[in-house]
Amino acid sequence: MRVPEERLRAYSNLRRDFSEEEFINLQPIQRGGVLTEEARRAILEFGDGYSVCDWCPPKTARLDMITDPPIKQFYEDLATFLGMGVARVVTRCREAKFIAFKMLSQEGDTVVLDSLAHYSSYIAAELAGLRVKEVPNSGPPEYRIDLATYASKIEEVKAETGKLPAAVLLTHVDYMYGNVADAKAVGKIANDYGIPFILNCAYSAGIMPIDGKELGADVIVSSGHKSWAASAPTGILALSASLSEKILSKSSIEGDLSKRRFAAKELALLGCTVMGAPMVTLMASFPAVVKRVERWEEEVQKARFLVDELERIEGVRQAGIRPKAHTLTHMETEPFFRVSEGHKRRGYFLYDELRSRKIVGIQPGLTKHFKFNTYGLSWDQVRYVRDAFHDIAKKYQLNVR
Ligand SMILES: *Cc1c(COP(=O)(O)O)cnc(C)c1O
Repeated sequence: MRVPEERLRAYSNLRRDFSEEEFINLQPIQRGGVLTEEARRAILEFGDGYSVCDWCPPKTARLDMITDPPIKQFYEDLATFLGMGVARVVTRCREAKFIAFKMLSQEGDTVVLDSLAHYSSYIAAELAGLRVKEVPNSGPPEYRIDLATYASKIEEVKAETGKLPAAVLLTHVDYMYGNVADAKAVGKIANDYGIPFILNCAYSAGIMPIDGKELGADVIVSSGHKSWAASAPTGILALSASLSEKILSKSSIEGDLSKRRFAAKELALLGCTVMGAPMVTLMASFPAVVKRVERWEEEVQKARFLVDELERIEGVRQAGIRPKAHTLTHMETEPFFRVSEGHKRRGYFLYDELRSRKIVGIQPGLTKHFKFNTYGLSWDQVRYVRDAFHDIAKKYQLNVR
């Protein structure tokens, strides 16, 4: 079938909506995924198809055994960095969760998770054939997860099904409010029950220091494109030595005619995962990532500064736990909503005003509340954002203290 030429033209010179050099991008999911220079160069070098497979060892033929580029060494260093026994790179955080759920459970089992979990945690559980039991949060204004309730929810599952949950999952930093949960407390509860503890570090590992051993995590999952200065799709699956055999168990299928077997392949990884450019961006950024987590406290200071400055606009208030312990921030901004009601562009006015000041990443159309992430911005950029918001507020006669 023929695809018309004029449609094909749309693909031949793809450009992004804005350039990260020219604009300040506050989009929460994009701050931690901005590439390093090293990663940009690596994309050009390894952009072709299966570019990391030149030296795939013939016997095992497995990604984690490749020594040129040094993927084998990288997996070891990744595990060390996270305080875990074994690490693998998969396509996304959600795939890492699915793999852990699937390999730790039987059909119909339950996973206990926090009520601020990302949608992909629910979907991963669903695809793995699991049910979920949610741990409540306090609601407004803090939305604090009631961590002690993990124990009673585990008991509930046991009473209802006659079986302990297959796993306990905690979202270390949630995507809505950027609250940082006390992972150690949940790790202790899970460990006391002997239930595998999966810590979702999509918004933490790669930007803040994480020691899985200290937190009592059996599984750490994270997102390379969200928090490790890597291209999509990349995800991290890090395991305690004791669970790694179960989760990375090998294939046992045999062809009924050919009698072919694939006993070296890790079943849940479908053999190999990320075989090209995205993998190499994750590796190329790793030295910078190892260093940048040490600067986390200063990143938090920038977020707190911007919260204080935005709250000088009367009626604007940060939601979630105060003071901020993470750079992902949720603001309640009723005054901007009132402005939007009288504006011909309605909710889009705020996006337009910010964009004309070379700031992007606040969701177009939102004014009642919005999220931003200051991670990786310079102090000058943070002050520039502050000035822009104050400017816009004054332009529409909002009161700035
Ligand atoms: C962004 C996010 C994810 C999704 O990560 P992917 O790598 O895109 O699958 C999962 N969980 C949380 C908490 C997130 O914030």
